[in-house]
Amino acid sequence: MAVASGRSDLDGNPIKAMTICMIGAGGFIGSHLCEKLMSETPHTVLALDVYNDKIRHLLDDAGTAGHPWAGRIHFHRINIKHDSRLEGLIKMSDLTINLAAICTPADYNTRPLDTIYSNFIDALPVVKYCSENGKRLIHFSTCEIYGKTIGSFLPKDHPLRQDPEFYVLKEDVSPCIFGPIEKQRWSYACAKQLIERLIYAEGAENGLEFTIVRPFNWIGPRMDFIPGIDGPSEGVPRVLACFSNNLLRGEPLKLVDGGQSQRTFVYIKDAIEAVLLMIENPARANGHIFNVGNPNNEVTVKQLAEMMSEVYSKVSGERAREVPTVDVSSKEFYGEGYDDSDKRIPDMTIINRQLGWNPKTSLWDLLESTLTYQHRTYAEAIKKVVAKPTAS
Ligand code: NAD
Ligand code: UDP
Repeated sequence: MAVASGRSDLDGNPIKAMTICMIGAGGFIGSHLCEKLMSETPHTVLALDVYNDKIRHLLDDAGTAGHPWAGRIHFHRINIKHDSRLEGLIKMSDLTINLAAICTPADYNTRPLDTIYSNFIDALPVVKYCSENGKRLIHFSTCEIYGKTIGSFLPKDHPLRQDPEFYVLKEDVSPCIFGPIEKQRWSYACAKQLIERLIYAEGAENGLEFTIVRPFNWIGPRMDFIPGIDGPSEGVPRVLACFSNNLLRGEPLKLVDGGQSQRTFVYIKDAIEAVLLMIENPARANGHIFNVGNPNNEVTVKQLAEMMSEVYSKVSGERAREVPTVDVSSKEFYGEGYDDSDKRIPDMTIINRQLGWNPKTSLWDLLESTLTYQHRTYAEAIKKVVAKPTAS
């Protein structure tokens, strides 16, 4: 695969090769972003993380002389909580992208301290080093920053609940509505909000060049882990991996509090296109906060479960279960202090205006390619685990 040359930005200017310090490069989003940068651009990535399994294939290729990305991706096993190499790596780079975070809801109410430290305290030095050294920062926040919709506080049958003004989430207009402190679910959203405010203030007072990304449920291959296969058996990943795990094991999918919450899902490969536009169009992206999601792919969690069961049956050739789902209370599933976002529709005005980006992939298509990957990657391993006799 040849690296494209003579590439131009959205205003027709040539794009110069840059060095990117990517923190959290070994995670779900990081692995897809590294893949995109290696296969389609001339940029170099300094990949920082505590793990590298999800980018191992890229690192191996980078060590092969003559490979299109030979020498263009370098892994640094660094925990940003305590590593003096961080500032030096940011200084060596033209741009820093910070993806590092604890970002699985099962942790927000059970490990609130780790969640707050990871999403606020640990991000502070990154912001400071970028600001002090005049380096550009793309920081990953979350759609959860919006919390609950205004409409969710109206009576269930109130006509204004159907009015987009009461539920569409706009970067520059919508308030951030979190639950009470004892609902520790909101520890993540609150920490992310404070780091957004700090970055914004660094921009306003000290001229930091920043872009903030608010992902709306990006999903696809390599997201999280399958419990007992490539992650802890008792671990609870995000919904795509939870439901994939249930389907692979032939179990019913668990609907938390009836699965009535609504989400919009966007295919990771569409979302990565948006991030690449931000990277290569600083004049259009700096100083902005961007929603990145697919407003056309809205479902309730219950509908997602039904759709995933149907798609999985198609790609695996296995018959769908007669009872595909079971209800479970949030207290039983996540423990004390869980709460939920009711509905998440991103307004796309700003990203459309600044970067001309639109998502392309339907929910059915993205589930088909993702569940094909899950089946190919995990079905055999699950069969072996299930077949193993239990110790008496
Ligand atoms: P992920 O968990 O797959 O990736 C995060 C990576 O950061 C992991 O590889 C982890 O090892 C690394 N990391 C965490 N703490 C670190 C530390 N102290 N030092 C070094 N590395 C560390 O998650 P993801 O889905 O790729 O999300 C990336 C970012 O996007 C996060 O900031 C998350 O809050 C945000 N986000 C993602 C989504 C989504 O839909 N996937 C939604 C909202 C927000
Ligand atoms: N959920 C569910 N069953 C599961 C896992 C998650 O019903 O096995 C629900 C969860 O309560 C939430 C939605 O699915 O309403 C999305 O959860 P996820 O963990 O993906 O993250 P969120 O979108 O809440 O940040």
